[in-house]
Amino acid sequence: MNDKTQSKKLQLTTKIFIGLAAGIILGIALQSNPDIAVNYVKPLGTLFLNLIKLVIVPLVFSSLVVGACSMDDVRKLGRIGGKTVAYYMLTTAFAVTIGLILANVSNVGGGFSIPVDATVEIAEAPSIIDTLLNIIPSNPLKALVEGNMLQVIAFALIVGAGIIGIGEKGKVLFNFFDAMAEVMYKIIAVIMEYAPIGVFALITPVVAQNGPGVLLPLLKLILVVYAGCILHAVFTYSSTVSLFAKVSPVQFFKGVAPATVFAFTTASSSGTLPITMKRSEENLGVSKSISSFVLPLGATINMDGTAIYQGVCAFFIAQVYGIDLPISAQLTIILTATLASIGTAGVPGAGMIMLGMVLQSAGLPIEGIALIAGVDRVLDMMRTCINVTGDAACAVIVSATEGELDRSVFENKSCK
Ligand code: ASP
Repeated sequence: MNDKTQSKKLQLTTKIFIGLAAGIILGIALQSNPDIAVNYVKPLGTLFLNLIKLVIVPLVFSSLVVGACSMDDVRKLGRIGGKTVAYYMLTTAFAVTIGLILANVSNVGGGFSIPVDATVEIAEAPSIIDTLLNIIPSNPLKALVEGNMLQVIAFALIVGAGIIGIGEKGKVLFNFFDAMAEVMYKIIAVIMEYAPIGVFALITPVVAQNGPGVLLPLLKLILVVYAGCILHAVFTYSSTVSLFAKVSPVQFFKGVAPATVFAFTTASSSGTLPITMKRSEENLGVSKSISSFVLPLGATINMDGTAIYQGVCAFFIAQVYGIDLPISAQLTIILTATLASIGTAGVPGAGMIMLGMVLQSAGLPIEGIALIAGVDRVLDMMRTCINVTGDAACAVIVSATEGELDRSVFENKSCK
């Protein structure tokens, strides 16, 4: 990468930070009059999100087909798929455990009782069996049109495996999807120029509407979820990237930072996917074939931050309702939160809906979600950061263990 590209990239990252800071300041200033933020600033953010959403389905589909095809043979696809899914599942189960331990130790909902806002509508969460069955689309075009990401992924992997299966004849289709993925990358590069304004416009109404006053009663819950997320990043990701990929965790966090900031403001892993892919390749040295396979998959099925949140919230709700949570119920929470994370879409608020499934399975009142709804966005921003960081950690590890990690990228950066 030449110096010019490097400085341009740095500039963009700095601009995104400035947009974030300016948005927070304006949000605080508009707290007494949040309508201004919602009516006049938010549309600029919505425009940005729409632009990002526009590329998500074609990007995920084409890059996963290409990613699957570039595995040369079905065996390599199976091996890399196996490593990826194993890392995702194990770290997610670990994440819920961290959430539950912190919730127990901090007594997160202890001495807490606030009236339940019965007017909050809670969407029904699907059962575990439905979540799993739903992965294979009976109508793949419908899945693409509706943007059902799990089904889109399943269809892409099946098409990719099919293309490998027919050998030479499949080359035409491979080239088609390869070109389509390149077109999406190009569009994303243009959209990113608008990111600083988009980030600014997204954060302003959040701060204006949920100012510090609203957050105070649930401050402890927020602190515990944030602490769990930070602990998971510092402990799990640091140790796994240095152990399995032999890279410096500090460089890893630095490299993934632009995607993390973006995740924080958009609260959407899918929306952040283009940036996660770009940064993983350019800042972390992940090979294109691995990033285009591991990351779209992760943006949909890997949600460590969401799992931490679900563990802490389940415990919190149990305490507020005065319900005892024996170890067996906590083990159920670990299992269901891990599965729920597969079914959680990478969009804002999805984790809160899936929390319903976790609560149900542990015999806890679903109405408890109403307690959390008011501050969910603040929790969502942090959990999405962790979701995205976990995806990037997996990409680095899989790339390294496949001998496809460009270590000079890490070395160059640490020399500077
Ligand atoms: N917003 C999260 C994400 O996109 C999902 C969630 O709500 O937990 O990763």
